[in-house]
Amino acid sequence: MTDGLKVRFWGVRGSISCSGAEYARYGGNTSCLEVSAGGRRLIFDAGTGIRPLGLELARLAPLDIDIYFTHTHLDHLSGLTFFAPLFDERNSVRLWAGHLEPPYTLKQVVSNLMQAPIYPVTLDIFKAQVQFIEFEAGGALSCGAVTMRTAALNHPNGATGYRIDHGGKAICYITDTEHRPGERDRTIVDLCRGADIMIYDSSYTDAEYERYRGWGHSTWQEGVRLADAAGVGTLAIFHHDPSHNDPFMDDVAREAAALRPGTVAGGLPRVVVAHEGLTLAP
Ligand SMILES: [Zn+2]
Ligand SMILES: [Zn+2]
Repeated sequence: MTDGLKVRFWGVRGSISCSGAEYARYGGNTSCLEVSAGGRRLIFDAGTGIRPLGLELARLAPLDIDIYFTHTHLDHLSGLTFFAPLFDERNSVRLWAGHLEPPYTLKQVVSNLMQAPIYPVTLDIFKAQVQFIEFEAGGALSCGAVTMRTAALNHPNGATGYRIDHGGKAICYITDTEHRPGERDRTIVDLCRGADIMIYDSSYTDAEYERYRGWGHSTWQEGVRLADAAGVGTLAIFHHDPSHNDPFMDDVAREAAALRPGTVAGGLPRVVVAHEGLTLAP
């Protein structure tokens, strides 16, 4: 693993996974990112995209893995039970969440998912050493030489945004969150200020947003406004709505590039539509 900061997208879809030819290029798996930094591997969210990541990682056991949840809605959680490294006793896996409030705990949420009659096996099927860790969004976390700041997002049942800093570079992961039209979210602007990459909840377009007010999601145009307000290098449009197929996302890419043309000093475009398999290294 390289030492520098980079992110690989394993799942970019929001709400529910989709399959079919019309999703082939951007991908149909739900949220999962792999961030590499300082020789560490950090995973963000366990949507269905974590399954192919787990198959690749399984060959590298023994593994020491951290998985940070933005939150535990199913599109960020449902891949966890198909994450191969959990079934190898040589591995250690720590699961982190900052959005839960009493009486909920992360362990209880995962064990609720793995119970009859909606799931055939319970938590004790995992062979790896699994640790559940709760923290309060708004503080800092450290993972080796990597430092992270977190912030609470505006989403039903809560969600946590992350900023990962390493070697003078920063990547922010901001999903799921709803903006207030006409107002920049100060918490997000502060967290993302000067970041090289901001991955942002772009479930809708501004034109679609009115129909989905209160659902807890934002728009790609709001991503552009926030990225500009925070002085972000590259905006990564993320958490694509299942109704947005490849031709739709091509249109979004074209319109977004017109609002944020050009590249940053390191050569990355100022805006990119995330797709499965994309790697960004600031
Ligand atoms: Zn989601
Ligand atoms: Zn959600």
